[in-house]
Amino acid sequence: MSYAEISVNSPAAQRRTFSYSIPSGMAVTPGQAVVVPFGNRVLQGVVLALADRVEVEETRDISGVIDPQPMLSPSHVAVARWISDYYLSPLFEAVSLMLPVGFDRRTVTYLEATDPTVDRSSLPARQRKTMEVLRDGGRSMRSLETAMGASAGSAVSQLVAKGLVTRRYELSRSRVSRRTETLLRLRLPATEVHEEAARLLRRAPRQAELLDYLTKRPAPMAVADARRDIGTDSAVIAALVRKNLVTTEQLEVRRSPFAHQGIATTAPLSLTEAQTAALDEIRSALAAPDGIGPTRVFVLHGVTGSGKTEVYLQALAETIRRGKRGIVLVPEISLTPQTVERFGGRFSNRVAVLHSRLSPGERFDEWRAIRDGEFDVVIGPRSAVFAPQPELGLIVIDEEHEWTYKQQDPTPRYHTREVAIKLAEETGAVVVLGSATPDVETYYRARREEFRLLTMPERIVPGGEPEMPPVEIVDLRAELKSGNSGVFSRALSAAIETVLSRGEQAILFLNRRGTATSVVCRSCGHVIPCPNCEIPLSYHSDEDRVLCHQCDYRIRVPEECPSCGSRRIKFLGIGTQKLEHETRRIFPTARVLRWDSDVTRRKHSHQEMLDIFRNHEADILIGTQMVAKGLDLPRVTLVGVVIADIGLNLLDFRAGERTFQQLCQVAGRAGRSVLGGRVIVQTYSPEHYAVEAAAGHDYARFYDAEIAYRRWLRDPPLTRIVRMTYSHDDDARCRQEAERMAKVIAEERDAAGVSGLELIGPAPAFHHRLRGRYRWQLILRGTGPSAVLKRLPAPRHWSIDVDPVGL
Ligand code: ADP
Ligand code: ZN
Ligand code: ZN
Repeated sequence: MSYAEISVNSPAAQRRTFSYSIPSGMAVTPGQAVVVPFGNRVLQGVVLALADRVEVEETRDISGVIDPQPMLSPSHVAVARWISDYYLSPLFEAVSLMLPVGFDRRTVTYLEATDPTVDRSSLPARQRKTMEVLRDGGRSMRSLETAMGASAGSAVSQLVAKGLVTRRYELSRSRVSRRTETLLRLRLPATEVHEEAARLLRRAPRQAELLDYLTKRPAPMAVADARRDIGTDSAVIAALVRKNLVTTEQLEVRRSPFAHQGIATTAPLSLTEAQTAALDEIRSALAAPDGIGPTRVFVLHGVTGSGKTEVYLQALAETIRRGKRGIVLVPEISLTPQTVERFGGRFSNRVAVLHSRLSPGERFDEWRAIRDGEFDVVIGPRSAVFAPQPELGLIVIDEEHEWTYKQQDPTPRYHTREVAIKLAEETGAVVVLGSATPDVETYYRARREEFRLLTMPERIVPGGEPEMPPVEIVDLRAELKSGNSGVFSRALSAAIETVLSRGEQAILFLNRRGTATSVVCRSCGHVIPCPNCEIPLSYHSDEDRVLCHQCDYRIRVPEECPSCGSRRIKFLGIGTQKLEHETRRIFPTARVLRWDSDVTRRKHSHQEMLDIFRNHEADILIGTQMVAKGLDLPRVTLVGVVIADIGLNLLDFRAGERTFQQLCQVAGRAGRSVLGGRVIVQTYSPEHYAVEAAAGHDYARFYDAEIAYRRWLRDPPLTRIVRMTYSHDDDARCRQEAERMAKVIAEERDAAGVSGLELIGPAPAFHHRLRGRYRWQLILRGTGPSAVLKRLPAPRHWSIDVDPVGL
């Protein structure tokens, strides 16, 4: 074939490819990275397809191939095209998701004289000078400019035109760094070392300590570990090397995060009945020839503690047994240390853990190692779905309802679940979506038999009853009426006292999500609404006003409640810091640990926080949603939800779902051992269906209520939504453009006869002013809201979000 369709790294390329001719002698395959001329520049591109003929009259030649090995597999090419098409994102941005980090590099132009000995005397001065510089071999354009000044470019162009000089393109060097580690090894047998250690004990106790340490561990030992464990430093090591007692060696590190963590390997557990039933179905899908059989997407709906992870592990083992590999997606690596540990324990150094702490060079190494098939399992956050894992057989998405699976910025604004399903379609892989509280959309699709539903309704309590912890709802309004306006209800205080007296542990959860604080009457629970829209008003501290995000109605903070006249107006907004303070004051003997992003950003890693609490160095753990994720701590017998209302008042059709999910997740932290456990939920809206259903651990009840509302209000999953946002320094310009766009879309819709597509807005966005810019938005709602947008030229400066989460 003589032509290639190429996705070019230029914003001007938008969603299309460009045709180039393949110069004779150049071998080009789909998925390969190349360099191509584009306008008057030279850019990177990726070949998406080859063709015998093209529609354009003139094509330019591909300048060069960056790497003979394709960067993208045919499946990944297909997925990239799909992402660009479905999420309306520039094609190269979709392709970039699958390229190794650091690929997006500068191109370096190299110049070479075609014939260094050519007679230069007839050339104009600057061209002659250029040829002189190039006489001794090729130079990069930049070094030529250093030698000749910035005007070298025009002389070069003239020489190229005359055929005296050729240009060659290369990507600038990536900053790939190999990581090495220093290892220590004893030179003598252990018995002799003990004698040496005894001799050194008096004069050089730290050297003795290191010797002793090394005899007790398998050789060789990493310096970093010795440093961490016994505080060895380089002087101590140097002294022992001088004495010929220890040798050091350098080893290139394969970043297997489990190698030095001392994680015990685990054997497969013998499964419960429910686990067996679920695994059997997944295994038969794995056994079916690629892509054949009924749906290959499973929803593993298992209550917290029902043993979903063990099902993933054994499904992966089966995948590997069949000569295939897996990808496991977790909401956020640093927040799920226990889950990651379990995979490491089962598959040890065949597991790659992708996380953002790696440098670009390290990530590039890792990417290549994965592509070369070095890992059976790749674990990571949403971007790991793009790992170049060969022979993909299984994709697991743990806690599939988590919103972190949707990419917000930068584009493409993809959802990991949809990408995984698409990738599985292309590769024949099986997908397992696991959750105790599946996304309403996921469950809806399972009910319609688009996905296969596997249910594990009981929790596994080693040596105990398979019961979910009882949940008690405390009505904070009643609490107030009886004179208690503190953070802790009487029930919660009493429960904390009990936990402390028994030497058990408690988690206090405060959901601080939601940027705006609601204005609430503490006497009657009335949430002050907008008179025009009936949605709750939000307090904006920057202007000290409460305002409506729908119509921009704004007032001062009311002095009394419009409903009951009480003057006890409050902003719902106690934060975890205040909660910590109150907890210490009321329970002075308790050891209190706060775990939120303020703490983890400055002081301790998530792993450290987990270790402190797991080792029972604290009695009460206070945290935001991050403590709700996947912790399995046997000593926790009480979970207190301090206020369960904040999520309910947000202007978002998913607010109820969000609240339900968080309550279930956090409640699932209690009672995971024979010690049993209970949950206390404090709320101003005890009758809300999301709160009631969570208290009953009743997903079906929640789902039925929720889907009825969605149907009634025509919200997803009954429809689909595209959110378009325009931002500008000038509010009026913003509004004008939004109105213009609404008109363009409406006209196109009517002209094309698209039915059932609603246009909502334009209206100021939920965050009307963000980072100094005004934002207006336009919502398209219908069965296929992108269709009309695809007919229009890509709207400039608009941000488009297909299937947005969090409106
Ligand atoms: P989930 O992921 O569904 O919340 P986990 O995987 O955390 O549940 O399992 C809960 C607990 O049950 C864990 O401590 C796990 O080790 C244990 N467990 C899981 N499967 C089994 C089994 N088949 N036999 C015994 N214990 C199990
Ligand atoms: Zn309003
Ligand atoms: Zn009131």
